[in-house]
Amino acid sequence: MRCADIAMYHAKTEMQGVSIYRPEIDMHSEKRLALMSDLGRAIREDQLLLHFQPKIDVETGKTYGLEALLRWHHPELGFIPPDEFIPIAENTNLIHPMTLWVLEKSIGVCKRWRERGYELSVAVNLSVRNLLDEKLVSQVETLLRRFDFSPCMLELEITESSIMANPARAMRSLEALHGLGVAMAIDDFGTGYSSLAYLKRLPVSSLKIDSAFVTNLLLDKQDEIIVNSTINLAHNLGLCVVAEGVENEQVLARLKFLGCDKAQGYYIARPMSEELL
Ligand code: C2E
Ligand code: MG
Ligand code: MG
Repeated sequence: MRCADIAMYHAKTEMQGVSIYRPEIDMHSEKRLALMSDLGRAIREDQLLLHFQPKIDVETGKTYGLEALLRWHHPELGFIPPDEFIPIAENTNLIHPMTLWVLEKSIGVCKRWRERGYELSVAVNLSVRNLLDEKLVSQVETLLRRFDFSPCMLELEITESSIMANPARAMRSLEALHGLGVAMAIDDFGTGYSSLAYLKRLPVSSLKIDSAFVTNLLLDKQDEIIVNSTINLAHNLGLCVVAEGVENEQVLARLKFLGCDKAQGYYIARPMSEELL
């Protein structure tokens, strides 16, 4: 009965009619509880690391920025993907020190690239809990000042679903961040039931089309219609469009034809450690 209850709550939050119990959706499964305590240690003992994935300008093919993606090498369990441990961090207060760590590292790394003459920006993913955190804006401001880092070279990616979880609160945080001069992008666009009324008012500069629509663009007519319409919608709202999940040359060519501005995906480059970049 306990498992059925968990599945029911999961179905509700995901807005699905049906959900099947899995330990991953269970905040109190043994594995989750063990990971939760290990994650606190991971942050303190430097088991987390960042990989960076290039984003290119579709027209010129030039890399203009990199997205920081968090990795966890667990001493016994090996590699744990962010989709597994970030929800755990979100359900504890660990998300706050973790995000701060990612911001600090990313700004530091980007600062070094820029000092070496590479004109690059860095993008950091924020979780819904960060958006609701009153301290976030002043922490970002302090970091920018400490690194003497130009705010517009930092981009914060916020998923469409975290904005829609509490649009009014999200709007306030986004406006305050925008006030610092930081760039903002809506991540995973197309998966989060956005209200166009909010989209129009959000102080964001770009919109990232979720890979679910991009990867099979050439095989699925519906996907192409969605991508094409999203590009038009974004452009009409004055936003730049980034396609995620570009896995081959043909998709990149099609995106160029459709007028997409920027692209990211395994075909262009995989996320990699700072040393490999
Ligand atoms: P995201 O922000 O949408 O990041 C893009 C994800 O797509 C990354 O997965 C990346 O490795 C993957 N990807 C890139 N190119 C391709 C491609 O061509 N094909 C496919 N199938 N996938 C591709 P990753 O690194 O596993 O991260 C998953 C999600 O975890 C991210 O999605 C983001 O929402 C979250 N995440 C990662 N790092 C952080 C972080 O520091 N903080 C927060 N709050 N969330 C993070
Ligand atoms: Mg992202
Ligand atoms: Mg995404």
